[in-house]
Amino acid sequence: MPDYDPATRVVCLGRPEAGGDPLNVPLVPASNFLLGSQISYSREDGTPTWHALEQLVGDLEGGESVAFSSGMAAAAAVYDQLPVGAEIALPDDCYQGVTSLVDKAVAQGRWRLRKVPVTDTGGWLAALLECDLVWLESPSNPLLEIADLRAICSAPRKTGALLVIDNTVATPLNQQPLLLGADISMQSGTKFIGGHSDLLMGVLSASDPQLAAKLRLSRKINGATPGALEAFLAIRGMRTLAIRLEKAQANALVLAGFLDQHPAIQNVRFPGLPNHPGHQLAKSQMRGFSALITFETRGGAGAADKLCNATRIIRHATSLGSVESTMERRSAVPGQQHLPPGLVRLSVGIEAVEDLKSDLERALD
Ligand code: PLP
Repeated sequence: MPDYDPATRVVCLGRPEAGGDPLNVPLVPASNFLLGSQISYSREDGTPTWHALEQLVGDLEGGESVAFSSGMAAAAAVYDQLPVGAEIALPDDCYQGVTSLVDKAVAQGRWRLRKVPVTDTGGWLAALLECDLVWLESPSNPLLEIADLRAICSAPRKTGALLVIDNTVATPLNQQPLLLGADISMQSGTKFIGGHSDLLMGVLSASDPQLAAKLRLSRKINGATPGALEAFLAIRGMRTLAIRLEKAQANALVLAGFLDQHPAIQNVRFPGLPNHPGHQLAKSQMRGFSALITFETRGGAGAADKLCNATRIIRHATSLGSVESTMERRSAVPGQQHLPPGLVRLSVGIEAVEDLKSDLERALD
C-alpha cells in the first residue's frame, strides 16, 4: 500500500482478504498443519499470524521481513551469516546485548572488532570499505546520538559487506534505513512495535529477498521462532503505533524541555531539542524524534537512584518504547559502567504530560 500514509498502512496491512475471514488475523497457536498447502510445520514455514506481522513490518520498513523470538535472536541471525575471521564495525554507543554477542566471539578469536563513534561519518565510510559487517544504531541507545544515515547508507562497500541499522529506537514510522540503502533494518519488537511491555519479539527486514531467505534459514536452523501469542500481540500493538508514537513524542519534547531547565539536571539528550548536536540531522532524516530522553543528575549515581525510586507514575524499570513511562540509571546495568554514573534513561509513555511533569518535579524537589 505504498500510496497511503504509514499511519494508515500500520492499521490496514496484514489482514485476511476473503469473505467470511475474521477482519484481523487470529491467534494461530499451531506447530503442525495438514499437508497440501504452503505451510506444513511452523518452525520452517511460519504461521498465518507471523506472516501477517512480517507483511506489516516489511511494508513499513520497505523490504521483506522475518520475525524472531526476540531482538537478540534477530541480531544473532545476522551474525550467523558471518564467516570466521570477519571484521565487524560497531558503534561506540551500542545496545549492550549486541556488544556482548560480538565481544564473546572476538574473545574466542572468531571475529575482529572495530568501534566507530556514532557521529564519525568518515569512520563509518572507511569501515564500509574494510569490514564485513557494519552495525549501527541511530538514534543510539542510550546516548541518543545521531548518525548521518543518508551518507552512510548510500556509501560504497566492500564486496559482500552487510550494513545493518538497528532501527528500534526510531521505529519504521520515523525512519526507513532500507530506502536509504542499508541491507537490513532491525527491530526489537519488544519495544515500540509491541508497545505494552508484554512480549519479546524481533524483526529483521532486508532489501534483498535472497538475504531475507538466508535470515529465514537461520531462524529455521536455530529455532529462534516467535511465539504465536507474541506475534498476535505484536500485530495488535502495531495497530496503535502511529498514535502511541505521536503522543509519546509530544510528551518527550515537553519533558526534555523541562529537564533541560531544571537546576538538579545536566546534559539532557533528546534529538528533538534544538540544542542537541544532532538535532538538524535528525530533523532531516526522521519523521519524529522518538520518545527517549537521557539526562544526568548533578548529584551523581546516588541522586539518580533516589530519583528513579521517587517518581510515582514513571516506574523504575528497564526497557523502553511502551505506553507507560519508565526510567532507570543505565550505568547500574551490567556492561554499561562506561556511562556517566548519574545517567538516567527515561522512556516516555502516553500518560497526560502534565502528570508526568509534576511527577518529575515532585521527585526532583
Ligand atoms: N536493540 C536495541 C536498541 C534494544 O534496546 C534492545 C533491547 O533493549 C535490543 C536490540 C534487544 O532486543 P530484545 O530485548 O527484544 O532481545
